[in-house]
Amino acid sequence: MLNVDLHCHSTVSDGVLAPAALAARAKANGVDIWALTDHDEVDGIAEARTAAAAIGLAYVAGVEVSVTWAGSTVHIVGLQIDETNPALAKGLANTRNGRLERAHEIAAELAAVGVPDAFEGALKFAGNPDLLSRTHFARYIIQLGICSSVTEVFKKYLIEGKPGYVPHRWATLQNAVTWIREAGGIAVVAHPGRYKFSDLAFDEFIQEFKRQGGTAMEVTTGSHSVDQYDYYAGVASRYGLLASRGSDFHSPNESRADLGALPPLPAGLTPVWHDWALP
Ligand code: AMP
Ligand code: MN
Ligand code: MN
Ligand code: MN
Repeated sequence: MLNVDLHCHSTVSDGVLAPAALAARAKANGVDIWALTDHDEVDGIAEARTAAAAIGLAYVAGVEVSVTWAGSTVHIVGLQIDETNPALAKGLANTRNGRLERAHEIAAELAAVGVPDAFEGALKFAGNPDLLSRTHFARYIIQLGICSSVTEVFKKYLIEGKPGYVPHRWATLQNAVTWIREAGGIAVVAHPGRYKFSDLAFDEFIQEFKRQGGTAMEVTTGSHSVDQYDYYAGVASRYGLLASRGSDFHSPNESRADLGALPPLPAGLTPVWHDWALP
C-alpha cells in the first residue's frame, strides 16, 4: 500500500523545516507520494520539487488556502496545481495581504494582557515575513515562558473569545476553489473535523464546495482524532468525495503526526490519488 502524505508546512509558511528538509524527512519516513501545502503561498514548491526529484520521491505541488465561509475560517487544500498560474498567484497574494496589519492588531491585544513586543517576537520566528501566522505568535509566547506548548497557547490566546484573536476576512470559498481549478488542481476540504459548524451549516458548506467544483476531503489527518477518521470516511462517502490523507506536519516538537506516520485511509474510500500518473 502506498504511503501518501498530502499536507504539511515549511518555513515558507508556519512550519519549522525548509522544503528540502521536509522532502528528506518524508523520504526517511517511508512516504511514497508527498505534497507540500504551505498556507496561502507557493514559494516553497520549486525547492520541494527539486529536492524530491533528487531523492526519488514522487512530488505533488500543493497549497492550503485560508477561506472565510459564513464568518468562520476554513482551509481548502489545492493539489496538483500549476503554481505559475496567474489567477492562483494573484488570488494567493490578495489572501496574504492583510496578514501584516492583523499581526500588529494581535500584538496590540497581547500587549494589553501582558505579552510584550509580540510583533517583533513573532517576526523572529517567521521564515517568510509575508506569512506571519498565529503559530509564530505561539512560538514567541512559549519562548517567553508564558506557556509550554502551542496547544496551551491556542487554548489561552489567539482563538475566538481569547486575547490575541483578531477576526480576519480571508478568500471566499468560491474564489479559493476557482483559483485551484483554474490552476489545474483538485480542491480538498482540509481537516473538516476542526470546524465548529452545525450539521446544517456543514451540509451547506459541502454543497457549495461541490457546486464550485471541489471534489475531495481530508479523512485521515493529524488534525483529526482516531474516531474522526471513521466518521469523516462516512461523510466523504455520503457526499461522493475523494478521500485524502495528510499529516499537517509543522514541526518535530509540535506536531501530533509526523510525515507519513498516520494510519492508512479507512477501507471503501476512493483516494484522491487513485488516478494520478506518477513517475
Ligand atoms: P493563521 O492562518 O495565522 O490564522 O494561523 C492558523 C494556524 O495556526 C494553523 O494553520 C495551525 O498551524 C495553527 N493553529 C490553529 N489552531 C490551532 C490549535 N488549536 N492548536 C495548535 N495550532 C493551531
Ligand atoms: Mn499552520
Ligand atoms: Mn489548516
Ligand atoms: Mn495545514
